[in-house]
Amino acid sequence: MSIEVKNITKIYGTQKALNNVSFKINTGEIVGFLGPNGAGKSTMMKIITGFIPPSQGEVFVNELDVVENSLEVREMIGYLPENNPLYHEMYVKEYLNYVAGIYKLGKQTKSRIDDIIDITGLAIEQKKKIGELSKGYRQRVGLAQALIHDPNVLILDEPTSGLDPNQIIEIRNLITKIGKEKTVMLSTHIMQEVEAICDRTIIIKNGVIVADDTTKNIHKYTDDKFQTIIVEFDKKIDFQLLEKLEGVVKVKNIDEQNWLIQTEDNIDVRPKIFDLAVRQKITVLSMQKREKRLEDVFHELTK
Ligand code: ADP
Ligand code: MG
Repeated sequence: MSIEVKNITKIYGTQKALNNVSFKINTGEIVGFLGPNGAGKSTMMKIITGFIPPSQGEVFVNELDVVENSLEVREMIGYLPENNPLYHEMYVKEYLNYVAGIYKLGKQTKSRIDDIIDITGLAIEQKKKIGELSKGYRQRVGLAQALIHDPNVLILDEPTSGLDPNQIIEIRNLITKIGKEKTVMLSTHIMQEVEAICDRTIIIKNGVIVADDTTKNIHKYTDDKFQTIIVEFDKKIDFQLLEKLEGVVKVKNIDEQNWLIQTEDNIDVRPKIFDLAVRQKITVLSMQKREKRLEDVFHELTK
């Protein structure tokens, strides 16, 4: 087990930012941590990385209590904080040298910096000052500082926020590559990002976990009992015939030939739609089950 969060509560003044939160993250998992602004994501990440203490509860990283062993734990964790604070006046290499010094990398420093510049794709910009870099490259420097001591746990707080679509894909690919060998927990507002790279999704709202499952199964946390099928026929069909099929709950036509059919979750009406079409001498041009998107699940659980 890489991360174990046990009954964590965090109170700022009179506000409860986290309320009795528990979860475990296994070694090698890539977990998406989702929630609306103010849900408590950054607070949770700061507690896991030992930057702030919890009000109650315990966190273990690689079986070590993060409060009691904060120095050892920091060596095991790479952390990209929200808004990626960097020293804009420093040169890229100068900054990475400085971070390597904090982790006391000693003789390995030079080769490690060269490796990390290579891994994060910083080579062509390595001679610049951080303040001169584009946001995408600054984010790479942020990832480089998080990775320089070769931690096996990565905590990334909105790593792609503020990047353009191309930069987002680049950073996402980088995280996927790095994530092959490490345990990763990342927060984001981009649902496709989670669908693309996270095995598992945890959704938090008002300091409470409202869903925690594999990304594929996370829709189970919503109470929607229906599924939706989209059918295209080659010509107009009598909608009453569709409505009469067993298991059909609701029929809605998108246009002459396209229909949205809502059905009971446990009945597959697709064969019956085919039979009906054959009897009516109509051709089914396409038919798909519409899977519930993470986006839908997120809205339902956090609205
Ligand atoms: P998220 O990262 O999900 O947007 P945060 O963890 O940053 O959420 O914040 C959770 C809640 O705690 C918010 O209501 C925020 O205003 C509050 N909060 C965060 N940091 C502090 C702080 N240092 N002092 C007081 N309140 C804070
Ligand atoms: Mg945050």
